[in-house]
Amino acid sequence: MTALIIDGKTIAAEVRAEWKVRADHLIAHGTTPGMAVIIVGNDPASKVYVANKVKACAELGLYSIHVELAADTTEAALLDAVERLNNDPKIHGILVQLPLPRHLDAHKVIEAINPDKDVDGFHEKNVGALVTGQTPFPSCTPYGVMVMLEKTGINIEGKHAVVVGRSNIVGKPMALMLLQKNATVTICTSKTVDLAKHTRDADILIAAVGRANFITGDMVKPGSVVIDVGINRNAEGKLVGDVDFASVKEVAGYITPVPGGVGPMTITMLVANTVRAAERLSARNT
Ligand code: NDP
Repeated sequence: MTALIIDGKTIAAEVRAEWKVRADHLIAHGTTPGMAVIIVGNDPASKVYVANKVKACAELGLYSIHVELAADTTEAALLDAVERLNNDPKIHGILVQLPLPRHLDAHKVIEAINPDKDVDGFHEKNVGALVTGQTPFPSCTPYGVMVMLEKTGINIEGKHAVVVGRSNIVGKPMALMLLQKNATVTICTSKTVDLAKHTRDADILIAAVGRANFITGDMVKPGSVVIDVGINRNAEGKLVGDVDFASVKEVAGYITPVPGGVGPMTITMLVANTVRAAERLSARNT
């Protein structure tokens, strides 16, 4: 069997077109959705992510700015930058590019963002709302995975979904979103005993581990849906996922590639959340 490839780029383009209609409507009524990204330091990978986010906003006619702060920025200066953006009426979505330099407390900084502008969905208020199934801002990567599954016509209800990884930004919100859609969910971590036993039982397998080619064909159920969230560099410096694409595609029914899978969806959902934030804030002001 060769798996069908879920093309993240094509789905992302389709989803962006849908959100552009909503953005255009807001713009026509006098509100241009605005996003601000704060980046601290000079991490090259972070700079690429930020540039891609700003570019995606521009493509949809959104206003966006990025605030660059030096690597030795104090916590007070960073919190001050967040507060300025909280009070800026042109900005509807704020995100702080992670990871932050070690001397800065990411949790404290995220909690300083106005939850109504927290388009990454990391503020405790929005995390709590995700638990109750009511968040306006589902975190972008798992949200993108859910949209991918939906657009591919994959039924989630009653399926056994196995999420490998429990980070606050991917694994945990992913599991909650799948649960919300009535999947039976298993979460695996580095402490899981006999990981392959669990992954082999998955109808839908989500890999969010951060280890190149970690999930191999023998760990996957025939015909299952395998979603690769990982972004890693292999020994040759090539971008690869957490899933060993060559062996898994021979077993799975569906598979996402890296690059061109979940990555384009993440940025798309960030833009979607920014448009939604602008809709909510402008409705409140009218
Ligand atoms: P983290 O490092 O925060 O979390 C990794 C998770 O994997 C942890 O929960 C860890 O378990 C688990 N893990 C590690 N080793 C094993 C193992 N041997 N068996 C089972 N579980 C294991 O990573 P993130 O969640 O932030 O990111 C995961 C991957 O997704 C990375 O490659 C990252 O680059 C990528 N990513 C991609 C995005 C995209 O847009 N496509 C967006 C965000 C991330 P434990 O908790 O026990 O340590």
